[in-house]
Amino acid sequence: MAASAMAASVGVTPRPSGAQQQPVPRRPAPQRTTRPATERGVLEQSIHRRVLDNGLEVIVLENHGVPLATVEIDVKNGSFTQTPATEGLAHMYEHMFFQANATYPEGQLFAERANELGAVYNGTTEEERVNYYVTLPSDQLSGGVHFMAAALRGPLFKSEELAREKEVVLGEYDRQEASPAFTLTREMGQKLWPGNWSRKNVIGDRTVVRNVTPEQMRAIQQAYYVPNNAALLITGDVTPAAAFAVADSAFGDWARAPDPFAANPIPPIPPLAHNEAVISEADVGAVTVLVQWQGPSVRADPDATYAADVFSDTMNEPGSRFQRALVDSGLWQGVLVNYYTLDHVGPITISGQTTADKLRPALAALDREITRFDSASAVTPEQLAEVKTSREVSSAFGRERTTTYTHTIGFWWSVASLEYYMGYVDHMATRTTADLQGYARKYIVGKPHVTGVLISPADRQSIGLTEADLTGAPTPGAPTQ
Ligand SMILES: [Zn+2]
Repeated sequence: MAASAMAASVGVTPRPSGAQQQPVPRRPAPQRTTRPATERGVLEQSIHRRVLDNGLEVIVLENHGVPLATVEIDVKNGSFTQTPATEGLAHMYEHMFFQANATYPEGQLFAERANELGAVYNGTTEEERVNYYVTLPSDQLSGGVHFMAAALRGPLFKSEELAREKEVVLGEYDRQEASPAFTLTREMGQKLWPGNWSRKNVIGDRTVVRNVTPEQMRAIQQAYYVPNNAALLITGDVTPAAAFAVADSAFGDWARAPDPFAANPIPPIPPLAHNEAVISEADVGAVTVLVQWQGPSVRADPDATYAADVFSDTMNEPGSRFQRALVDSGLWQGVLVNYYTLDHVGPITISGQTTADKLRPALAALDREITRFDSASAVTPEQLAEVKTSREVSSAFGRERTTTYTHTIGFWWSVASLEYYMGYVDHMATRTTADLQGYARKYIVGKPHVTGVLISPADRQSIGLTEADLTGAPTPGAPTQ
């Protein structure tokens, strides 16, 4: 099962949490069946929400295209709840979810029940959400919801299963570590999130994982796996009435618990004090560059998060001034801008690839473009209009696969709220060039950042690259424009 760790994330295609096996949508992808005046109007026709007395949010999305249903549980857990002593255990917990529980007291019985239901199941762990989902024939909906309830409410954390799954997780760790980007992203993360890397490090710490105990799993369960910290999504070939009824029967008597974040608030992440640099050597051909800033927090500054996504879209649009200056000029093979939406500070990442001989002028050109991010010429109204059109097209595509769309809604529920999601496209559409400038000024231009370079030892030596070259001093010999 996938741990989406920043640790695996280098490449010219930035993805929300870096590069995870299970992609998190960079933006929601609402379905369009009709064209009411607002996207919210469209969503309100198809998304139904209820909150049970115990605080469990139940979200139902009807789509009768194929006779399948998806049942997903989203929990507000993930690496953001981790201290160095528990670094990696949110993901470890995910692996223990589909194991023996009070209803199916042997792992084998659990697997057999899944077979009977014709169910395919999986889970993923990210920074600020863990999800579990099962897709099955829609006439098995009730069985599917109770199957998930059994796993969620009654895990046994058997020692022998924990010992086995621990090895599976360590294997996943090994595979991530084998990626040339692993060291770069870990060292950048340690600098970008001062003193708080454990809260962003999904794959975790090898020693912590190796020493995991059933008691640690139970502590996570008691604190976070409670109805008032979870959402149940039922989607596909279902009716709201039937879905709410089965949700009630499987979860209605689950006792509410104290708010996990009242007892243990997530400490604020301190801002970066100054520019930092990381150079990571590996046997790679091209040179990969990542530049990262601490971006907005979605609950604290939602307006900036809408601006951030529109801003990234305009920069990434082929033919934008940014792309012409950097890619069409031949300095970079590709450069992309990304903001990854999170509550506890989401990163802004510019990632690109070039060659060793072009690295210095490429970095100088990138610096010049970044300096102009908050200028009136950075984004034109025409560009804004273009990205709005592309977004509508990609939204329509995104909604076609109900299972993926379910994960999308669950992601936004965990990181922000269903309400944020419902208003997302409408808010995006009303961003102005001034909003985008304001975002760039507040979070990027002149703000401390971490620059990372992944390069082969020979290339590094040939150009004499040092960390001082990357921390913001003007680059000697860079061509002026
Ligand atoms: Zn996993």
